[in-house]
Amino acid sequence: MNDTQSSATFPTSQEWTDDALLTEVERRSGVAVGTCFQCHKCSSGCPIGPDMDLLSSQIMRLIQLGAKDEILESEAIWACASCEACTARCPMGLDIAAVMDTLRMMAVERKISSRDRRGRSFNKAFLTSVRWHGRVYELGMMALYKLASRDLFADMDKAPKMLAKHKLNFLPHRSPSVKAVRRAFKRAQEEEKKR
Ligand code: SF4
Ligand code: SF4
Repeated sequence: MNDTQSSATFPTSQEWTDDALLTEVERRSGVAVGTCFQCHKCSSGCPIGPDMDLLSSQIMRLIQLGAKDEILESEAIWACASCEACTARCPMGLDIAAVMDTLRMMAVERKISSRDRRGRSFNKAFLTSVRWHGRVYELGMMALYKLASRDLFADMDKAPKMLAKHKLNFLPHRSPSVKAVRRAFKRAQEEEKKR
């Protein structure tokens, strides 16, 4: 855990607002975030964890607490590589990677983007990948990100390990909902033009 993570402040029970955030994230991701019981298995296996300002287990807890700003303004949701290691480790079968996808979408809708250039490049690559495939195609997204950020060789040493553990697929897997996702993108673009 890095300094930023250890100094993270969490709402107290008195600061619980309502369950609007939990309801929205559960509806959009299809993940029962409310059943997370904070075993931390997801965050202990996250390859990006040491570089995140919030760990995946902390994000799950903050969703339960309704701490929308803390989550949507965090860098962690952009640092997440969508590798699904967390999802594979969760004893409750919670698809944490899908929750992270949902949080990024929510942040973009609220016009919140990463403060650093690499985060913005990742944001763009993520959205392009989702629009093409209906969900993230990790290898394609990382190629787009590397080109956009010009950060071509950083973390290249991790790729063979992730491929060996089947965390990255060579070929894209298109979501059966891809048409619905593209319609959602089109609606968002139309809304954007009206503003
Ligand atoms: S999907 Fe994101 S949060 Fe989950 S293990 Fe991978 S990088 Fe970490
Ligand atoms: S592994 Fe699952 S139950 Fe455990 S903290 Fe992560 S999301 Fe919650």
